[in-house]
Amino acid sequence: MKLSADTLAPASHPVARLPAEWEACVVAWGEPRYRGKQIFDWIHRQGVLDPDEMSNVPKRLRQRLKEEGLGWPIHIVSTHESADQTTKFLVGMPDGEKVETVLIPQLGDERVVTQCISSQVGCAMGCVFCASGVAGLKRQMTDAEIVAQVLLGRRELGPDQRIRNVVFMGMGEPLHNYDAVARALVLLTHPDGLDLSKRRVTLSTSGLVKQIDRLGRDFDGQVQLAISLHAVRDEERSKIMPVNRKHGLGELIEALRRYPLSKRQRITIEYTLIHGVNDSVRDANGLVELLRGIPVKVNLIPMNPIAASELRAPDTSHVTRFQAQLTRRGLSVFIRKTRGDDVAAACGQLAFHGSPRRTGRNALVADSD
Ligand code: SAH
Ligand code: SF4
Repeated sequence: MKLSADTLAPASHPVARLPAEWEACVVAWGEPRYRGKQIFDWIHRQGVLDPDEMSNVPKRLRQRLKEEGLGWPIHIVSTHESADQTTKFLVGMPDGEKVETVLIPQLGDERVVTQCISSQVGCAMGCVFCASGVAGLKRQMTDAEIVAQVLLGRRELGPDQRIRNVVFMGMGEPLHNYDAVARALVLLTHPDGLDLSKRRVTLSTSGLVKQIDRLGRDFDGQVQLAISLHAVRDEERSKIMPVNRKHGLGELIEALRRYPLSKRQRITIEYTLIHGVNDSVRDANGLVELLRGIPVKVNLIPMNPIAASELRAPDTSHVTRFQAQLTRRGLSVFIRKTRGDDVAAACGQLAFHGSPRRTGRNALVADSD
């Protein structure tokens, strides 16, 4: 199924409207249809969200857009630049909640930027190694708040820079906020807007099986899928990722086999290495067996330390040995270099400021699955 204005959940805010929805609005206001596309272009291609700056839009329509509440749904609260060029933005929303988004220039060519975005305030999944999980879910982000992170990120780039990749690896479990994330995906990849390639938008999930199927159907398998695996036996995975108690590894792997990948496309497997938990030779061999026959690339992420946990990464030499074991047995494996850890912008370090809260932890059973 192809997603359109008719099949998506309604937009929560003018910024999240699609061209067809803008056209319907302007026609209802007695304006010519083409004004709809013009407004979408201002917002999503040019990054102009303030009606007063939409110079080719007549004054009465600009006034109407203001009355409709068009404007930035998020704002930058603070900016933290890391020694490695990674920039983390603390982003505020109208109700005072905050999330984080990170701009990551490519090593060796800083003109090419990957943006890491959030999809929820906190996360209900409760993974024990993750700052967002320890904090619990505070609320869902809206479609407009999600997509506006990229509009905002683009505004903060240097003159030669462009955002080529967007990864849903900030705060939150994107598939636990499916409707808003699906609309954001349509907006981010819209040819008349930001026009990102679907394959350059990566959705990372802890493994909500039904929503993985739905994503595959809704986007024909074109959105790049990343799976946070982190363990190869149910017993161990359930201890560190409570989601596994609901959807065990067998079920998850079956969903990956069903995901409608096109030729040459591969699923990314994320494996956060935790000392003494999932870093043995037995684990490496188990990973090879589990992924047999599925087109994958494996990203090993040495665990970034978080305040709420004693867990930590293995030594670097051990990480390299783990990688070598996988490579020897035919997997393609990358060690993901930690970026931005000096400003707590690295994976799993994105959390609320202030002391971690524990409310909502393991609230997973309430997911709509
Ligand atoms: N909720 C989604 C996406 C956000 S987390 C998911 O879990 O996939 C992005 C990635 O960072 C995930 O693979 C996650 O497991 C990993 N991660 C979380 N905490 C981490 C930590 N402390 N160190 C390293 N990676 C971590
Ligand atoms: Fe949520 Fe992902 Fe963190 Fe798990 S790793 S708690 S799913 S953000």
